[in-house]
Order: sequence, then C-alpha cells, then structure tokens
Amino acid sequence: MNAKPTIYTQSLIELTDFCNLNCSMCSRVMTGKSHMHPGKNTSFINQNTIKNTFNGLYNFWSTPLAVKLFWCGEPLLHPEFDKIIQSAAKFCSRENAYLDLHTNAVFLDRYIDLLLESGDVLPRMTFSIDAINSKTYCKIRTGGNLETVMDNIGFFLKQRKELGLQWPKIVIQFIVLQDNKSECLQFVKFWYKKLTEYDTGGPDMDTIWVKKGDAYTPELQEFHDDLFRNCLNEINKSKNTFDSSRVRLIANSENSWPNKEDTYEIPDLQLHCGAPFTSPVIDSRGNLTCCCLDSSLDLSPGNINDNNFKTLWFSKSLQNIRKAFIQQDTENYPEICRNCPGYSGNLFKSFIKQVYSM
Ligand code: SF4
Ligand code: SF4
Repeated sequence: MNAKPTIYTQSLIELTDFCNLNCSMCSRVMTGKSHMHPGKNTSFINQNTIKNTFNGLYNFWSTPLAVKLFWCGEPLLHPEFDKIIQSAAKFCSRENAYLDLHTNAVFLDRYIDLLLESGDVLPRMTFSIDAINSKTYCKIRTGGNLETVMDNIGFFLKQRKELGLQWPKIVIQFIVLQDNKSECLQFVKFWYKKLTEYDTGGPDMDTIWVKKGDAYTPELQEFHDDLFRNCLNEINKSKNTFDSSRVRLIANSENSWPNKEDTYEIPDLQLHCGAPFTSPVIDSRGNLTCCCLDSSLDLSPGNINDNNFKTLWFSKSLQNIRKAFIQQDTENYPEICRNCPGYSGNLFKSFIKQVYSM
C-alpha cells in the first residue's frame, strides 16, 4: 500500500484485563463471556506486545487513526502506564494518530500531570460515571466511590484551567440504565454547570454524553431504546437551558474527532458493520481480534507475538467475515454478529478495494 487512504480507523489496545470495579453494564458481564477465563491470571500488556502492535499499525494502516488505550479493563491500573503513554505519544506524533482514553477515573489523581502534558496527542478522554447520587453509583459501578471520582475530575479541570491548557478535552459519560434513569437530567445539569465553569476555550469543548446502553439481544435493544427515549424526552424539555454542542445524546457508536470530521468524504457503501475493516483490537496478552464486542475472542485469528500483525489481520478467517459483510451473506456472519446492529457501517468502496483487495 503506497498512499494511505483517508478514513477514520481505530485500534483498541487493552493495557490490562483487570479492573478495580465490577460494573453492571460492563460488556464482560452483559455477554457472560470474557477472555478473562477463570483460572487465568490477570494480564498487563508488556512492552514487546506494544512494540509489535505499533509496528503492525505503522506498516499498513490508514489515517487518521485513533489509538484507544483501553478495552476490557481499567487502563490506569497498568504499573507502567506512564511509559506506555510516552511510547504511544511518539507513535501518534509520527503517524497522524490520536490517543483516546476511557477510564473510570478512580485513580485519575495518579496521572493528572502526565495526561495534561499529553494534550498534543490526546485530544479527548472519557470519564465513565453514570450517576450523580452515591447510592446509584455504587449500585452500577460496584467497588467505586463517587466522591473520589468527582474530586479527581474536579482537580483535573482546575489544573487544566490554571495551566491555561485547551487539551485534553473531556467527555463525562452517562449510559442510560434502569438504575439511573431517574437522575439523567440532574446529572446533565450538574456537569453542564461544572464544565462551563472550567471551560478553557478552543475549537472543541468538554461534553456530556448521554448514551444508550449496548444490547446483545433484540429484546434488550427494545428495552434500552425505551429507557433512552424517556431520558431524551426529559432532557429535551430543558434543552433551551443548554448549549446543545455541550450535551450530546448518542444512540449509536460514533467516531467523531475534534476538528477532523470536516476532512472526511461522504461514505459510499453501507455495510452491516465496519469493525472488521477498520478496528483491530489487541488484548493485553497480544491476541488480535476485529471487534470490541468480541471479548471472548471468538473471531481472533491469533496472537501478534506469534504471528505478524499484518498476516493475522488479512487472515482467511477475517477476510471471510469481510466478504460476508460486503455480500450481505447473513448465513455466513459470525454468530456474535447475527443479532448485533453493528457499528461504523459506512465505508468507502475505494478503501475496501485498496486495503482489502475486495
Ligand atoms: S470500569 Fe469499565 S472495565 Fe471496569 S467493570 Fe466498569 S465497565 Fe467494566
Ligand atoms: S456486527 Fe457487532 S459483533 Fe459483529 S463485528 Fe460488528 S460490532 Fe462486532
């Protein structure tokens, strides 16, 4: 591949499969599956796996690329988190890539300086909170402490403002669930006020994302649709009091990046799902898969410490999934995809042709 095609792609790199919380909406709990099989020790990604991942991404990937340093665990728990951020930042500076981080923010206080120093390559971080009342928080985010999280985020915002830094922007996330549905508006009002107070200007802003919960069956999908619709109605009644660009209501996965959307062409091919084309996922042991929902690694063609990243990404098994998606050959969809609405469904035909020879 000579010139890199311009399309939004993302790679998830799991720093650890360990988490300090046990959230009710965690994909590991929802799917009832995980690559964290009982009896397996917790894993932290090592430098060799990181090197092999970045080498693989360097050689053939398209741009811009979001490097998401998280998957099925809490990234800030990695004992060498600072070193990983530094090597990822080097990769991003050379490769027109961005870092992205999702964290439960319980240990944010350990790394506030480092994260603020990384704003050039880390335009956005997401803090998953999902509650405004301690009792609700403990029910949903079991093992955490809302006061600690709020203090950590408050300190981050204060430091960023004092240093006059525009980046990283933050997303405060609320996934609408049965247990928190009654406090969605209160959550939005609180964080709207806080983020407005600590706004540091620039072309993008800190935002609150109210998101629909992931669902893995049609029944659950309907249930989450209803919950989300009710919250949406409630927020809409107060919408005149909010700047709508600060409060985003998100029903599906979205891949927008600060100041980058405008450079995209209009996609010309609607697929069931774009993940197997655009989203390699590497777990903390080096296993590669093609979808962030594949936490049981059913779709994995192998491990990047045993095989070249490129060989695995273009392996027969992944090419067969791509073919099935292009041909809408539902009988040959992997089982996990059959009831899944998919995501990132739009792709350029030219991208598929250039990268996948299809
Ligand atoms: S913080 Fe994230 S990884 Fe940890 S249990 Fe909650 S949802 Fe799962
Ligand atoms: S259809 Fe769903 S499970 Fe299948 S690759 Fe896409 S997002 Fe993953």
